[in-house]
Amino acid sequence: MIIESVELENFKSFGSRSRVFFKPGLTVISGPNGSGKSNIGDALVFVLGTRSSKIVRAEKMGDLIYRPKEGERAPRHCSVTLNLREEGTGETVSIKRELVEEDGEIKGNYYMNGKKARLSDIEAFLLRNKISLDSYSFVLQGDINNLIKMSGTERRRLIESIAGLDVIDMDIERSRRD
Ligand code: ATP
Ligand code: MG
Repeated sequence: MIIESVELENFKSFGSRSRVFFKPGLTVISGPNGSGKSNIGDALVFVLGTRSSKIVRAEKMGDLIYRPKEGERAPRHCSVTLNLREEGTGETVSIKRELVEEDGEIKGNYYMNGKKARLSDIEAFLLRNKISLDSYSFVLQGDINNLIKMSGTERRRLIESIAGLDVIDMDIERSRRD
């Protein structure tokens, strides 16, 4: 699966609609500080179903909806659509997550190929295609700094987790308990 494009609608600093294309090979997004580069990364993390607003650098999920400038109308929803393509078959899949503000409450919806879907459907699809937020496919801003500042024990735990040893440790722990 490759990412063809990501569409942002009223997501963080992207008022109205924007689409970012990922051409084959390496894509670099450059721009001045505060211009929204990391917000594009946040959009990818958001559409893949993160339950934590902190990971997408927001106090609460509602803060992801575009905050209007003076004179602009406040939008009541935001969405991110991820357009994926299977390289072999050329088959395309779109995943969309939206937040809608209703009576002061934020509700979330997911869509797959334009049809309403459950988060569990999206999660199953991502799992089948080995796309995961928990993997090391995403290196977020600050991660490298954290890595440098980590204590020896924390770094060892991280390496063990990358090597898959933590799963074995959990199994050993479980078998000792049972
Ligand atoms: P840097 O080079 O410093 O890493 P960047 O290009 O990665 O900058 P981002 O962190 O993506 O910048 O964008 C930060 C900007 O997004 C800030 O100006 C912030 O006010 C704006 N922003 C975040 N959430 C919203 C929102 N809901 N509505 C409008 N603007 C927002
Ligand atoms: Mg940034």
